[in-house]
Amino acid sequence: MNTIPPVDLVRQYKSISDEIDSAVLEVVRSGRYIGGAVVSDFEKQLADYVGSSYCVGCNSGTDALYLALRALNIGAGDEVITTPFTFIATAETISLVGAKPVFVDMERDTFNIDVEAIEAAITPQTKAIIPVHLFGQPVNMTRLMKIAQKHNLYVIEDCAQGTGAKWGEDMVGSIGHIGCFSFFPTKNLGTCGDGGAITTNDQAIAQTITVIKEHGSAQRYYHDVVGINSRLDSIQAAILQVKLRYLEQWNQQRRDIAQRYHQLLIPISEIQLPQEIEGGYHVWNQYTILVKNKSNQETTTRDQLREKLQEQGIISMIYYPIPLHLQKVYHNLGYKKGDFPVTETAAEEVLSLPMFPDISPEEQEKVAYTLTQMLIGI
Ligand SMILES: *Cc1c(COP(=O)(O)O)cnc(C)c1O
Repeated sequence: MNTIPPVDLVRQYKSISDEIDSAVLEVVRSGRYIGGAVVSDFEKQLADYVGSSYCVGCNSGTDALYLALRALNIGAGDEVITTPFTFIATAETISLVGAKPVFVDMERDTFNIDVEAIEAAITPQTKAIIPVHLFGQPVNMTRLMKIAQKHNLYVIEDCAQGTGAKWGEDMVGSIGHIGCFSFFPTKNLGTCGDGGAITTNDQAIAQTITVIKEHGSAQRYYHDVVGINSRLDSIQAAILQVKLRYLEQWNQQRRDIAQRYHQLLIPISEIQLPQEIEGGYHVWNQYTILVKNKSNQETTTRDQLREKLQEQGIISMIYYPIPLHLQKVYHNLGYKKGDFPVTETAAEEVLSLPMFPDISPEEQEKVAYTLTQMLIGI
């Protein structure tokens, strides 16, 4: 039985292996492994693509978030508002700079922060909002920026899953004060290892981040602030230069795949399908359905379904099983079950189906056929 994986990075590599191989070899042969034109050229290309004036590469999406918070001087005594339905890095970096994450429930139809609920969470300590363009779906940035402006708050966009997504005409990462990107292999623009970047239109922010990511030094061996070592490696930058040229095409393929899933799965009323919100350009890092629970059962309907799919060789994923406010690491924040009911229900119902630009129509049909059989028995 051929299994259908959640993502297949080898297929993508094979489709462009000549270009990747020669880009990597060129760096290896050059002897210049840290920094250099290959990194600065990529930074410029990403800035142009996103439509921001500046881009600074770093070691990961997590570092990008950390550097963004540091550059805005956010720390002890400050609060930062974000969603509890995201990867841990979004909140973890708020904690790492000494600030306090404040969660706001999500919206069931978009999986993103409920923008209308943000204002109620703002206090005199609030310094910033981190919207996450989860699964590739852009947050309603028009509404969010209005609220941020009204309360004089910074906006750091977590674009880790949304490289290439747009709100209106604007690319995510160019709308808030800082955009944070991840090049983890499974992201829309993924490299062969770790990598990340920030984008901004503010020259001072870009400069501060450049200093903090290089051990707090603007001039070598002169250290002005406590920094870290966070580099986008030259080899990764070379790979990313190649892949960036394909990003629009791959995102379009993801959009076509999402549409095909939609057509195939629409007859199944037991599941809620994800949809692009009006005004948004969704780039489908994940295709995540909601499997409604039947009451009075020990295990969730979702978990049973996931197991049955696995028996048929279809590997689905659960992003995310435990909302951040209920994680052990955040017990100290004092949240309890019931605080964010939309998020908590979604955590029990979400199921991400195989999604990658090279998935074949036949594979998608098999996923849909299997789901249909299991849920409505035809
Ligand atoms: C992947 C991801 C990150 C972190 O990126 P890394 O490069 O893995 O550090 C942050 N936020 C979200 C929403 C992510 O999906």
